[in-house]
Amino acid sequence: MYAGPGVKTSADVPIPERMKAWVLGNPGELKLAEKPVPVPKRAEVLVRIDAVAICATDLEIIDHGSPALIQGGKPFNKNFTPGHEYMGTVVALGPGVDEYKIGQRVTVEIHAGCGQCKRCREGMYTSCHNYGLNYGDLDKGHRANGFTTDGGFCEYQVNNINTLIAIPDAMSDEEAALVVTAGTAMYGLTELGGLVAGESVVVTGPGPIGLLGVAVAKALGAQPVILTGTRDNRLKIGRELGADHVINVRNENVVETVKQLNGGRGVDYVVECSGAPNAVNEAIHMVNRGGKVCLAAFPHEKTPVDVAHIVRNNIYLYGIRGEGKSATHRAEAFMSQKRFDATKIHTHTFALDDLPTAIRYAKERIEDAIKVVVKARGVAAHRVAAE
Ligand SMILES: [Zn+2]
Ligand SMILES: [Zn+2]
Repeated sequence: MYAGPGVKTSADVPIPERMKAWVLGNPGELKLAEKPVPVPKRAEVLVRIDAVAICATDLEIIDHGSPALIQGGKPFNKNFTPGHEYMGTVVALGPGVDEYKIGQRVTVEIHAGCGQCKRCREGMYTSCHNYGLNYGDLDKGHRANGFTTDGGFCEYQVNNINTLIAIPDAMSDEEAALVVTAGTAMYGLTELGGLVAGESVVVTGPGPIGLLGVAVAKALGAQPVILTGTRDNRLKIGRELGADHVINVRNENVVETVKQLNGGRGVDYVVECSGAPNAVNEAIHMVNRGGKVCLAAFPHEKTPVDVAHIVRNNIYLYGIRGEGKSATHRAEAFMSQKRFDATKIHTHTFALDDLPTAIRYAKERIEDAIKVVVKARGVAAHRVAAE
């Protein structure tokens, strides 16, 4: 029987002792395995995973390892379960937990920092100085499920209560799995960026963070919100999510067009989500003097950057890792108030057993896939349920 010291469970929600879990073997290789259902400790709960979205960072981890860090190194052949954008139902409470109830639906943030380093104390727990130090004698209590601890491509996972966000009954599993993506955009624009209503924003690259970046910027009162990209079908979704203007970079000079759309001066913020080789140079020419560039994409190449232009124009550049300072809670508030419809970026749902197919859809953008969701229950295997 499933049990642990001081752990509360309910007869209404039986928990098995073992579960299905995908584990990472060699680079690119996922295997379906069985693992014990984990047991929550102090300040943790057990979440039954009801839906998990596939992120570009999962694809990066599965093929290349980084930014996952397991036992001080790459995550291959370490019985590691990736997946980090999930939601579910609380089914067991660790000792002393009374903040959440069994049966409550939640979505999760990824990072539970150590709580004791300088950045965690500032609320920047996604930049925890003890990142990945959660094993052996170095155990600092840090967790980032799907990065430094087991993640969501399985049936159950433990989460620190600080990473939970309660969601309303009216929010679907699929929508709730997208809260963290909107939370990343929120963190970049508000907590890190300091955006206030009426400021102008360009988002470059209509991937999931870019598209929800448009939605969050618009909901925050940004004006105008401009989206740039290469695929017209994605730009159209950007318009539906609130972009005032879209620019197909294949047809127009993007820097000139951005300036024309904003009185010749450029915008206050660029959120760079494309990872294109020259994206940073273009971004610093799209912002006005004193403007800010938020870097949210992971490019592989190193590119020379026009530093002189940055210095002479007092331009701020900042990278963003994940979603700190509880930004995800505020993103969820926008979504539960229906300030934007994040489900516009959800394109496919697969059964957990079909994870490799789901990953192929996400990676190769089959049938214009944007956000692909996997569910352990309620979805027949080998069936494509496009919405
Ligand atoms: Zn992600
Ligand atoms: Zn820390």
